[in-house]
Amino acid sequence: QLHNAIQELKGNIRVFCRVRPLVEGGLSKHIQLSPSDNKTITLAKTEESHTGKAADTQKNYNFSFDRVFGPQSLQQEVFEEISLLVQSALDGYNVCCFAYGQTGSGKTYTMEGGEYDECRGVIPRAVKQIFRAAEKLGAQGWEFTFTASFVEIYNEGLRDLLYSGKASKRPEHEIRKSANNEVTITNLTYQRVCSEDQVLHLIMLANQNRSTAQTAQNDRSSRSHSVFQLDIEGVNAGRDVKCKSTLCMVDLAGSERMLKSQSQGERFKEMTAINGSLSNLGIVITALANKESYVPYRNSKLTYLLQGCLGGNSKTLMFVNIAPETDSFGETLNSLRFASKVN
Ligand code: ADP
Ligand code: MG
Repeated sequence: QLHNAIQELKGNIRVFCRVRPLVEGGLSKHIQLSPSDNKTITLAKTEESHTGKAADTQKNYNFSFDRVFGPQSLQQEVFEEISLLVQSALDGYNVCCFAYGQTGSGKTYTMEGGEYDECRGVIPRAVKQIFRAAEKLGAQGWEFTFTASFVEIYNEGLRDLLYSGKASKRPEHEIRKSANNEVTITNLTYQRVCSEDQVLHLIMLANQNRSTAQTAQNDRSSRSHSVFQLDIEGVNAGRDVKCKSTLCMVDLAGSERMLKSQSQGERFKEMTAINGSLSNLGIVITALANKESYVPYRNSKLTYLLQGCLGGNSKTLMFVNIAPETDSFGETLNSLRFASKVN
């Protein structure tokens, strides 16, 4: 409760930066993390003097976030920082968590993680915590119903990642908004779930669905958004209270910019769709942070779908994932600039 009060004061949008380790371990020299406060990251660009006489000049770009995780950060440490946020989903708050960054920067690692227990990412840890907490609340008379869905947004089209029927019979989907502002997707699988294991099974199914599409179309998963949603409904008959919320976890499409000249046809369409929906996400979150009266949710499928979980009394967390390699300097700078705009 104290945490929620603090959140109220701080606003409901937080940004965490996470730097992936280099493949050979460690960190490139151009990225400096503040050892004292865990909140600042500096990108340093050294420009070599061409005359040979003058000294090299260094330009520093500083950014601060609610938290910066270095390359040594463990999945567990990262989750500890968001576990209160996850908990608030059971208190009736909508919670939305995004991973933003270029392809290869660690978005999927942060959200889903690896196979081994200690490598598990935010989604499986959140699911585990929620089921455990719901069980404890059961002793106080609460009964919860959970519904999971998993959808991919590719080129502004929707694809059900929990679909298990014949490929040839895959239905079309549309986003619908009801009179009470609830957003649903037509023909989507909304699966009732009662345990952590059931959800983990669905995540596996979603990954299979994604990899099938991936094989048919090279590198597709980095060019689509994947949205996992857990709808939570709680009833306490004894106290005559109800609560309803959604926990939403989004692995965004890679934020890298392609040169217009290098992309034609299908690629050009993809690039336009990705740039459009990522920049609209930034616009929506900024509008919410500034409490603007008009929020352009409908300008992209992603924000339209998430409309119910963004704004109002919702809590939003954005991870900006950073690749440490020197040749990613430009993309890293872009990502940090994007993330500091929404912070
Ligand atoms: P993205 O989803 O942004 O394209 P990935 O999550 O697939 O990136 O990460 C790229 C590679 O780096 C993967 O092999 C992943 O396991 C590894 N990786 C990413 N983040 C970390 C980390 N924090 N620690 C160790 N390995 C990581
Ligand atoms: Mg990925």
